Amino acid sequence: MMTTFERLAHNICDCHVHYGQFKNDYYSTELLVRCYAELGIDKVGTMPVGTSWECDFNRDQKIMSSLPKERFVPYLWVSPEMVDADPSLKLYDVLNYKVIKIHAFAIKEWDKMPDKIRTVIEVSYNNGVPVMFHTGGWRGSNAIQFYKFCREYPDVTFILAHGRPISQTLTVLKGANNAYADSSFMSIESMKLICDAGLSNRILFGTDFPIMKTFWPEINLIEWYKKNVMELIQTFGEKDFMIWANENFYKLIIKK
Ligand SMILES: [Zn+2]
Repeated sequence: MMTTFERLAHNICDCHVHYGQFKNDYYSTELLVRCYAELGIDKVGTMPVGTSWECDFNRDQKIMSSLPKERFVPYLWVSPEMVDADPSLKLYDVLNYKVIKIHAFAIKEWDKMPDKIRTVIEVSYNNGVPVMFHTGGWRGSNAIQFYKFCREYPDVTFILAHGRPISQTLTVLKGANNAYADSSFMSIESMKLICDAGLSNRILFGTDFPIMKTFWPEINLIEWYKKNVMELIQTFGEKDFMIWANENFYKLIIKK
């Protein structure tokens, strides 16, 4: 008999996945290709690791263009230097990216460059793609820092990756209906707070795969993934989970 996971996998989209060097571990795209094929997941939003790895667009473009296009959806990981090199970001169109990621924890200088962030947001507006902000870790990347941008650009979709801290994330989600939170490394308790506030439809399913292996070396990635999905389905129900894992991904990122 088919398990619930097997029945749903081909409709599940994961909006937050990495390749590259994280601390002492290198996560290859071959690993991603193999794992997601075995899991049978529909779409995988993919970006380089933002921390502990030098940012290099040419390398990333080469790596990401080698990934199977039916499954892997490229994201543009943008640094202040990349904006300086081309404020229109047209240089990076070859990637055919579907999300722009700003990581103000890995690159703390972003905190002092709100206008450079606005430049990126304006490109995302023109290209019709969401902006993903890493949230948490320090004052400059906490969710509330991005509230003003969500309010200034109501026609742009913003994804607060991890939704940290959760109290600030709730404030942003309540005050800006163009803001979403992704569930990568988010606790069940935090997700319950979002749902209890009536904001369940503002969650996107994401995992931060495969870097949990660095934190918990003993896990089997495939087993971990299935268990994570099943825990969400058992806690929140299949209907809500599929809004996070399918409906919202197609609506906000694939746009069809
Ligand atoms: Zn991440």
